[in-house]
Amino acid sequence: MIAVYPGSFDPVTFGHLDIIRRSSAVVDELIVGVLRNREKTPLFSAEERVNMIVDATRDIGNVKVTVFSGLSVDFARASGAQVIVRGLRAITDFEYELQMAQTNRIMEPSVDTMFLTTSLEYAYLSSTTVKEVAAYEGDISRFVPENVADALHRRVAEIKAGEK
Ligand code: ADP
Repeated sequence: MIAVYPGSFDPVTFGHLDIIRRSSAVVDELIVGVLRNREKTPLFSAEERVNMIVDATRDIGNVKVTVFSGLSVDFARASGAQVIVRGLRAITDFEYELQMAQTNRIMEPSVDTMFLTTSLEYAYLSSTTVKEVAAYEGDISRFVPENVADALHRRVAEIKAGEK
């Protein structure tokens, strides 16, 4: 079974990595898809986001990471995947995720969505809050792996230097 795990991952957090680890254990191959967003302006380029995930998942044999744009179902189809993996943190994620899953299933009945509920210790984590803490030079070591924390601190410093 091949599964895709699509998302923005701007940047990847321990919450995403928990979903990657657990879903990769139940499928043959997991392809993490980094969305090249058009409307949102990401802090990191799609290639930077891919490299950070590659670095953080080196020890997992059946995980690949790639960039995609467009619809998740089209990405799943093009990857030969039968399953789209998504993480559910709280009830706030539920409504949107339910709508997406049902819409995707109408567009592509051969692809199903598999939800993993987040591990409790990561339930509060989002890329947005991590970026906020990093912007004020707070300690983000409990939220993201070291390579991501370093990249975030560097990016914040670059932005601040640019504002001077
Ligand atoms: P999006 O795809 O909505 O732009 P993200 O890249 O942040 O968002 O997230 C990709 C997927 O990972 C989504 O299914 C999201 O619910 C899930 N996710 C995000 N943060 C966590 C977390 N802390 N624990 C578990 N799942 C998460």
